[in-house]
Amino acid sequence: ALQEQQGRKEKQQHHAVALAFPTSGHVNPVIRFCKLLVKLHGFAVTFVDLRPVPEGSQALPHTSMATPSSAGDEQQSVPLFRRVQIPIAGVSDLFNISFQSLFEKTASVGPDLERLIVSLNDQGRPVTCIVASFNATFTVQSVADKLHIPFVALYPCAASRLLFTHYLSRDDPISLQSVIEAHSPTKDREDVFCRGLPGLPTLFNKDVPHFKHVKDETRDLWELIIRIWKACSAKAHAVAINTVQDLEETTCRALADACDVPIYDVGFWMEDLSDDIAISSWKEDKSCIPWLDQQPNASVLYISFGSLTLLSQAEFHAFIDGVISSKQRFLWVLRPDLVKDIDYSVMVMDIMEKSEGKGLVIEWAPQLQVLAHPSVGGFLTHCGWNSTSESIAFGVPMLCWPYFSDQLLNARYIVDEWKVGFELDTKKEEGSGLKSQEIETAIWAFMEGEEGKIVRKNAQKLKEKASCCLLENGPSYMKLKALVDSLK
Ligand code: UDP
Repeated sequence: ALQEQQGRKEKQQHHAVALAFPTSGHVNPVIRFCKLLVKLHGFAVTFVDLRPVPEGSQALPHTSMATPSSAGDEQQSVPLFRRVQIPIAGVSDLFNISFQSLFEKTASVGPDLERLIVSLNDQGRPVTCIVASFNATFTVQSVADKLHIPFVALYPCAASRLLFTHYLSRDDPISLQSVIEAHSPTKDREDVFCRGLPGLPTLFNKDVPHFKHVKDETRDLWELIIRIWKACSAKAHAVAINTVQDLEETTCRALADACDVPIYDVGFWMEDLSDDIAISSWKEDKSCIPWLDQQPNASVLYISFGSLTLLSQAEFHAFIDGVISSKQRFLWVLRPDLVKDIDYSVMVMDIMEKSEGKGLVIEWAPQLQVLAHPSVGGFLTHCGWNSTSESIAFGVPMLCWPYFSDQLLNARYIVDEWKVGFELDTKKEEGSGLKSQEIETAIWAFMEGEEGKIVRKNAQKLKEKASCCLLENGPSYMKLKALVDSLK
């Protein structure tokens, strides 16, 4: 017992201050990673929430979480996960702000972060490391330097995206110009973009990440991301990636060989659905769970395009017609800001009526609970890395409609490398737009056809492989341990 107590005391020496770029795709994985540090390694974590508090809602509670092992001893009264809020002004509407400005605003929090760390140190809770999402590198690097605290960068996307960025940052063998030209109207999306990059499959033009769907120019954003990667690889103590060994083994090996900064593939950062830490800044509509309970096994298509996708009216109507005509059961996350200039409630009523009881529309889902539900048979997704990894973790096959950024590369892996989904391939001829007939056919094939059966089986197998990585003494577990040990 004495030894155990001693071990616990040693474990609890770490205090991490954590922060994330203020979008769901970054906040969710960072909080989940922090929970792992608390639960598996006894860290205390102070999470700095930069997200604006949504109008009309309360600030998220300052939460606490005790390690199960500390129950009953005096440590239980000390919150191990605490949240402080430093909301960034002027970012409440992510669709009316450029990403570059969001990066600048995030970087401007540096002095506040420094003050917070100094005050925590003064209160006798010395900060031993900073954990920050990759996109927040500019916020933390000078603070980490000045206060001599190691900083661990969390990469919330796939290792393939980081390796691609790394090659681009060297300007060899892929250049920024070639990346921009990959999506020019004169190029065929099916043509080879680059062959033989160590750790990456042959890439086609359609796989190359672009930022056409945001306010920023693709060139400007890539230049910024390259600067962040250069700063991160020069300054960070380590980079932790939300991926698992069996998924991207050769990619991670190539990254480790190519980069100076140590890389740890320590994913997946999944949520323990039973704990009390709220993550989402949107209200999750849990009424979908009893509805799912009433549906047959593997019969429901879950549809969500994440937090940042915008649909044109034409795309939206094509989706409605395609989904309805496929005659499948569906649960559809329709954010009120997904489509500009629609009458949201009229639209929802219209979809519900047309679905004749087979569909449910909600504003925001408890996505992990949905993907874990046995009634869900497939996920029509924009292929954001969190959605992709969550779908893999729960063995749900994917019908891919990548929208921008790394989602294109993720879709390629889902379809060709892991074979756990197929693409809603309506963009063969650039500009031809989405056709409801193609959506209907693809959904039917995915949910009912032979191809669907194959990807469903593969998804189950991949889930088993991925979950082995997470077991005690599995690769992810051991890598997290090595990362924590390296901080001592
Ligand atoms: N999400 C959720 N409820 C929803 C839709 C999404 O909780 O209705 C979560 C999802 O589980 C994931 C994140 O929001 O963790 C979206 O991240 P992703 O990388 O998939 O896409 P992004 O929003 O960054 O485009």
